[in-house]
Amino acid sequence: MPPLAEYTDYLNRIWAQRRLTNGGPLAEELELELAAFVGNEAHVQLVANGTVALQLAIRALELTGEIITTPFSYVATTGSILWEKCTPVFVDIDESTFCLDAAKIEAAITPRTQAILATHVYGYPCDVVRIAEIAERHQLKVIYDGAHAFGTRVAGRSLLTYGDITACSFHATKLFHMAEGGALVTRELALAEKIGLLRTNGHHGDHYVMAGTNAKTSELNAALGLCLLPRVPGFIEHRAALYRLYREELAGLPLSYPLLTVDVDYNYAYFPVIFSTEMQLLTTKEQLAAAGVGTRRYFFPTLNALPYHTGAPCPVAEDISQRVLCLPFYQELTPSQVQLIAQLVRVSMPAEEAELALLCINE
Ligand SMILES: *Cc1c(COP(=O)(O)O)cnc(C)c1O
Repeated sequence: MPPLAEYTDYLNRIWAQRRLTNGGPLAEELELELAAFVGNEAHVQLVANGTVALQLAIRALELTGEIITTPFSYVATTGSILWEKCTPVFVDIDESTFCLDAAKIEAAITPRTQAILATHVYGYPCDVVRIAEIAERHQLKVIYDGAHAFGTRVAGRSLLTYGDITACSFHATKLFHMAEGGALVTRELALAEKIGLLRTNGHHGDHYVMAGTNAKTSELNAALGLCLLPRVPGFIEHRAALYRLYREELAGLPLSYPLLTVDVDYNYAYFPVIFSTEMQLLTTKEQLAAAGVGTRRYFFPTLNALPYHTGAPCPVAEDISQRVLCLPFYQELTPSQVQLIAQLVRVSMPAEEAELALLCINE
């Protein structure tokens, strides 16, 4: 949350201007600031949430057939494909980054394949270079679900500028947020203009161009974004320190982590840990809950196993999904809280329990 007084200043401006929505001055200001933050001549269009951003991305690219996608993401990734009457084709994930495995994409391409929709899981980048090569070779569109990706850079360039369109979520639970909100990022002007029309019921004033929807954001949401955006670099710096502390405090335990490649400036959006077994995850989760520490199985279950849709088996994603737990990770988290949580994780592990018991005996 930004300081309330800062938000109130924006509310005073809104009340003075008496503009609540329809591309008001604060939404316009935030779009410009976001475009500057993202850089690389990207166009940024704010929308009501990240799910509608995914839906509009599919619409704007006029996709109707099969979309190759990841089984390891939030349900909105697959949900948007189904909502837009396209067919999700699941390709398994890379075991080190948890993102769509680029090496397995080509085997899943059919004459009906039109696009690839991949998620930058936890803010770790997909193999954007290889995916671009495959897309070019097979004339496919590329949409990235960038809901976790805000602030990550690859080779100095914002991760949001890869692919044809990146759909962002600025939901309250994300690194940067507007309570509810989202954006579409593209470097193609014509596409940006089309998205601008699609989100405002397909018209500019009295000029009706195409069928659209209402996916606009409000001035109240934009004001939150304007308060928080300048703080994002500080958030990332603070989270990087918390991340390092977690890793130190958890050192020596049978846990693993997603792999960060060298040319990535990571945004530290989440703190996922992978246990050696699901049983251990459940034990630790339960013991943390008993101590009042909330954790989330994120993402579980995998999207190829949704009850209303069947997808091909994805053994890597299914295995990771059963063993991954996101520990508490947010700006206000203090170093001593990190130490406490890590200690709780440590004592939830059997070998460590034995070690602790031994310590007690020695005392
Ligand atoms: C949060 C999230 C979404 C959906 O965004 P909303 O703003 O909640 O609609 C989509 N994909 C991923 C990976 C997410 O984490």
